[in-house]
Amino acid sequence: MLFDSHAHLDMLTDDTEELVRIVAGEFACGLSAIVQVSTDPDIHSNIYSSLVRQNRNIYYACGLTHAFSGDIREGLGKITDIVRSGQVCAIGETGLDYSRGVDPEAVLRQKNLFEEQMLIARMSGLPVIVHTRDAAADTLAMLDRYPDVRGVAHCFTGDAGFAAALVERGWMISFSGIVTFSSAGDLRNTAASLPDDCLLVETDAPFLSPVPFRGQPNLPSRVVHTAALLAEIRGVSLEALAALTAENGRRLFGRNGAACGVSS
Ligand SMILES: [Zn+2]
Repeated sequence: MLFDSHAHLDMLTDDTEELVRIVAGEFACGLSAIVQVSTDPDIHSNIYSSLVRQNRNIYYACGLTHAFSGDIREGLGKITDIVRSGQVCAIGETGLDYSRGVDPEAVLRQKNLFEEQMLIARMSGLPVIVHTRDAAADTLAMLDRYPDVRGVAHCFTGDAGFAAALVERGWMISFSGIVTFSSAGDLRNTAASLPDDCLLVETDAPFLSPVPFRGQPNLPSRVVHTAALLAEIRGVSLEALAALTAENGRRLFGRNGAACGVSS
């Protein structure tokens, strides 16, 4: 049973009823859990009440990304309220993305957003889902300021040195469909050598469909293609890889049990 550690279910469709149907179909395809990552605090109550509260296999994360363009104080206030409500099991995604340039003002804003959410994580004891692109040194510097905060580098595309530095700090590393792309040889080598207890798989749906669906809108059940590739390069069965990553996912996201499919 596969654990998709990162999906944006709210981006699959604007129609809530259709979304509920799609998600039910996804679980019928053999998923054990999905981490729903909400990056807009204003959709929180709809997604929470229509999907998360009904389904104990949906873990729920909420945060402001590096690209958040609204008022930072207001946005963080909403995230803080959501965290206080006890309805999330992780903060994120947030982080640093320098792939489109390093305009000093934009970098400062990204760092501010990231740091404020690390502070919320430290206060709440929740893990953080980090997005990091071309920003390994600054990402590690931020993690080192909050050594008691743990989390995952999602959709990891960094090099072996960055991966090792994350593992050394007790962070997990999640691989998306990118690892199945023919151009991702170095990433596959990194994924093959990481220790068992830091490994997660994800879809980042509706983005980044794995081979053989590359270019199409992605769905959580397609995490099986990423998991199968990782199993192959690590020399284990798909079942073993699925069990391992599901166990890691529960360990990371399951700390706040009340956030994950509240049934009461
Ligand atoms: Zn994402």
